[in-house]
Amino acid sequence: MRTSNRRAVLAGLGGLGASSLAGCVTQVGASGRASSGLIAPARPTFVVPPLAPLRMSADRITKITVCLRPFRAAGPRLDVETVGDKRVVHNYGHGGSGWSLSWGSSTIAAGKALEGGTKEVAVIGCGALGLTSALLLQRAGAKVTIYAKERTPQTRSFRATGTWSPDSRVADADKVAPGFPALWEEMARTSYATYQTLLGLPGEPVSWSDRYTLFDGADETRQHVEGPVRFAEYGDRLRDIVPSPHDLPAGSHPFPVGRVRHGISMQFNVTEMAHMLTSDFLAEGGKIVTMTFDTPADLARLKEPVVVNCTGYGARALWKDETITPVRGQITWLAPQPEVRYGLYYRHVSVLPRPDGIVVQQVGDSDMWGYGVTEERPDRAEAETAVATIAALYAKV
Ligand SMILES: Cc1cc2nc3c(=O)[nH]c(=O)nc-3n(C[C@H](O)[C@H](O)[C@H](O)COP(=O)(O)OP(=O)(O)OC[C@H]3O[C@@H](n4cnc5c(N)ncnc54)[C@H](O)[C@@H]3O)c2cc1C
Repeated sequence: MRTSNRRAVLAGLGGLGASSLAGCVTQVGASGRASSGLIAPARPTFVVPPLAPLRMSADRITKITVCLRPFRAAGPRLDVETVGDKRVVHNYGHGGSGWSLSWGSSTIAAGKALEGGTKEVAVIGCGALGLTSALLLQRAGAKVTIYAKERTPQTRSFRATGTWSPDSRVADADKVAPGFPALWEEMARTSYATYQTLLGLPGEPVSWSDRYTLFDGADETRQHVEGPVRFAEYGDRLRDIVPSPHDLPAGSHPFPVGRVRHGISMQFNVTEMAHMLTSDFLAEGGKIVTMTFDTPADLARLKEPVVVNCTGYGARALWKDETITPVRGQITWLAPQPEVRYGLYYRHVSVLPRPDGIVVQQVGDSDMWGYGVTEERPDRAEAETAVATIAALYAKV
């Protein structure tokens, strides 16, 4: 297979360096003089704070979880169709971006569901898309019932990493409709704005964290493998709202690698987020009913005239949507370290600290990692390899 170094790493996380994790102080900023003679604003000085070391060893693994990203080359499905006497609004197929795009995508789906003045809506699915759709519909005045085979913590959404990743495996750049990039931007901006209103809450459903991406010679980039898909990258469309990362000067950080990029990124404590959305929905009068649908014709069982279909990867079987391709991802959980408030990306392993555990994820050396893989059983060897990669880094600090 032909490969090319296409992207200089992810929305992500980095590694450690030169001196020690006890921290170091650095002037990163530089001031410039504008040609008019006015002093241009100095770039803010960034001081690398003391970084508590990650405690990486296989004996701290508490669980290993796996889920499948529901990838559609055309992007998430948001069209409307009629099935029997029901109007069905689709809201599925968000790849690795389901939490990040949820509020924006569900705002569009809820708007379509309420066209025509419907006041009673069924939502199928209780993951990120189902919960946000249900809440938005309810807050717009509809009476809403969620029908789902699984709810938290059994949903695939519950097994997500929990980082702002709105264009992660969301579409194939060569297969989307011409209007999709603008639609994506609308979803991402709505979600981003909504998540800003959920900061500072108990349990930290949303927070910001420092991220360090460590570039380590030959391993510094993920490879774009020429294959069936060219994953779309739309991050540049959000440059005005999402903070940009910057390289740290050599010697200004504690990591033993040549180059380190620092950024800040939004993250989600998925456990608390799912709990909060469920509690809010129920507290505001919503109902959740356990129900499995085998075919679209089963929707006839519902009393509501309008249905929002948020079945995620489940739509492949239920709706016979073979345009959904699974992209497997595995998370290795280590015991929580509340003192760690930063994430890392090093040698294709990402680490994110959450209140409910340290999330360690092998993301692979190519962007086709996990593509087409349906295996949802945990792979202990993969988990231990990821942990060992980060342990080796800390051994050098
Ligand atoms: C390892 C990994 C890490 C990820 N990390 C991130 C991240 O950091 N940030 C991010 O934004 N995204 C992330 N994602 C992507 C995100 O998890 C998905 O896009 C998202 O979970 C999809 O949500 P959903 O609500 O569409 O589907 P699901 O969570 O799968 O929910 C589907 C719901 O529909 C129900 N259902 C399905 N079929 C039927 C049926 N036939 N009858 C009745 N009910 C049915 C299910 O029971 C469930 O309630 C990650 C994915 C993986 C695999």
